[in-house]
Amino acid sequence: MRLAALGFSHETNTFSRVPADYAQFQKTGILRGDEIARQYGQSQSTLAGYLEAGERLGVEVVPLYFAHTNPMGMVTRDAFERIVGEMLHLLEANGPWDGVLLAQHGAAVSEEFLDADGEAVARVRALVGPKVPIGLTLDLHANLTSKMVGNATATVLYRTNPHLDARPRALECAEIIVRTIRGEVRPVQALETPPLVINILKQFTGEEPMLGVMRDVDAVLARPGMLSASVAEGYPYADVPEMGMAFVAVHDGDEAAAREAAGWLARRAWERRAQFVGDAPSPAEALRAAAAAPKGPVVLMDVGDNIGGGSPGDSTILLAEAKRLGVRSYLQTLHDPEAVAACVAAGVGADLTLRVGGKTDDMHGSPVEVAGHVRLISDGKFEDTRPTHGGARYFDGGTTVVLETTDGHTLVLTARLIGNTSIEQMYSLGIRPEAKQVVVAKGVISPRPAYAPIAAQIVLVNTPGVTTADLSTFAYRRRRRPLYPFEEAIT
Ligand SMILES: [Zn+2]
Repeated sequence: MRLAALGFSHETNTFSRVPADYAQFQKTGILRGDEIARQYGQSQSTLAGYLEAGERLGVEVVPLYFAHTNPMGMVTRDAFERIVGEMLHLLEANGPWDGVLLAQHGAAVSEEFLDADGEAVARVRALVGPKVPIGLTLDLHANLTSKMVGNATATVLYRTNPHLDARPRALECAEIIVRTIRGEVRPVQALETPPLVINILKQFTGEEPMLGVMRDVDAVLARPGMLSASVAEGYPYADVPEMGMAFVAVHDGDEAAAREAAGWLARRAWERRAQFVGDAPSPAEALRAAAAAPKGPVVLMDVGDNIGGGSPGDSTILLAEAKRLGVRSYLQTLHDPEAVAACVAAGVGADLTLRVGGKTDDMHGSPVEVAGHVRLISDGKFEDTRPTHGGARYFDGGTTVVLETTDGHTLVLTARLIGNTSIEQMYSLGIRPEAKQVVVAKGVISPRPAYAPIAAQIVLVNTPGVTTADLSTFAYRRRRRPLYPFEEAIT
């Protein structure tokens, strides 16, 4: 039995002005064949789960292709066609297949297709025909569509946020597909899309209200014949008709049971919808409280500059406020290749004054003038074997500079865009975040595995930006109406 493993993964922030063109995917790395096992085999990612399935279930899983890039704006028409075109070409050239395992994100939007994942799955389905089972593993932030689910045989989403279970979910998906090929099960799926958005501030699965939702999913999984059940938290920064929460249930043979399960999950979520609305302190409130806290570090999540959600990583909103308030013992990263180059030119040990951050657009503050001392320059590569969001192990922030400023701030300037999902990002630079009073992490949930073990407190901050929690600031044109909580009065 031979199964192909492949996919492309993008979370598209349609409010971002940075297009996800082919060069962006190339920069992050487009992997083919054995490169996939080398890069992901030892990680906790979806592809690792597919590869593990091959060994565990005694079938041949052939890794073909994987492309991904950081969340940013629309996938260009050219990038979509080249990537999906190569996926289809490799499938065709290396077939026939008994099954296909797709590793998609579920919130990709291209210039041509608002449901780019659905289009990709549909094209794969058209190529392999109706009889070849297709397994589809998606991120918890997918905006699930009937096109995705309808063209897949079994759809399985991560069940943790931060995403620590990509590998076991991919294994679960692959197992359903292998058992389908063996004739042991006959998956039927049901999708429910209640008109509901869960604010990014409420998406941590370790706390209510998501904890309750995940308990409901567990209850459904325990029902007889249920092969899988998932909730999509949805990705609110993609302005598409399917944006929002969704539920998919996969049952062995009984469509009514699948429908009942997905419907029950959706109704239960709808009943607790008021809990899904977010609230968070302003930058000044959060910084004042953090500076005055009896014990550090207080980790401030910069929600508006959530790199994992498609932001530029160079917001200076918190930095400028910290400067204004005189907050010291402060640590944060900034994606700023220009500032990195200036510091590299000055050299280690140099003192200089320069403007950092706020350079990508006008949504994330202005450049801030800082005076500081270049303490260290690194190649920005590091490895983390601890649990990390999405199961990543190898990281590359590009040339990285540690700048100690006269304000008592430690700024980590990176040439490449990189999130704060690994504590090794700091340890590898000789920085002990434990010793700081205030640590800024650009994200909402994804930095938790890195920082929860050392944080005295984690505070989500209502910063402006392309990933702000305040969704009323976005001009949606394509989302469903009514949709809670934009339209409060839906019953
Ligand atoms: Zn996600």
